[in-house]
Amino acid sequence: MTGGDPFRVHAMEVGPLAVNCYLLEHVASRKAAVIDPGDDGPSILSRIGDLGLSVAKILLTHGHFDHVGAVALLREKTGADIYLHEADVARMKTARRQGLMFGLWVPDPPPPDVHVADGDSVPFAEGEFRVAHTPGHTPGCVSYIINKMAFVGDLIFAGSIGRTDLPGGDYDALIAAVKEKIFVLPDDTVLFPGHGPATTVGEEKRSNPFFTGGW
Ligand SMILES: [Zn+2]
Ligand SMILES: [Zn+2]
Repeated sequence: MTGGDPFRVHAMEVGPLAVNCYLLEHVASRKAAVIDPGDDGPSILSRIGDLGLSVAKILLTHGHFDHVGAVALLREKTGADIYLHEADVARMKTARRQGLMFGLWVPDPPPPDVHVADGDSVPFAEGEFRVAHTPGHTPGCVSYIINKMAFVGDLIFAGSIGRTDLPGGDYDALIAAVKEKIFVLPDDTVLFPGHGPATTVGEEKRSNPFFTGGW
């Protein structure tokens, strides 16, 4: 558990591809935003129950199957709205087919209720997420930024970046998105990626070999 008042972040690693599902808790109201419920829906729900939270939003960073596998169950059990960029809607529709290529069963996610776009505000509890369109891993990748925290999906990882060799990938777009949308945030902004440990803007600026030319 990390993050300061008024929010707390609970990270769960879900599914065979080890996706980070984040529960962002608003401490005062016990409301939660669930970011990328990728798999293991029953575990996510029991964690939410143990923490005594009510789910207000389901925020998706992109439409890859490993990030959306538990959306159907979360939606069914909580009724929370689903947020996704329009450019990844078609991709999410193919989640079941994407999963089968990996030999994995992914239930069809319901379509998003809200299409998010660059610069949008998504109200949550007493605050709001700012949406940054950060394409490159997929055309519809977004980052959700709130209170010096950024949930960046598969855009950037601690010491690495997201794959750009999958359909819709664009290396130059990804590098530009990191520089223009993420590295402009304060250095102590915590980055919560779709896989692997959390990091900070400052740490990645200093040491990520894709941006320092050190590899
Ligand atoms: Zn992905
Ligand atoms: Zn991923």
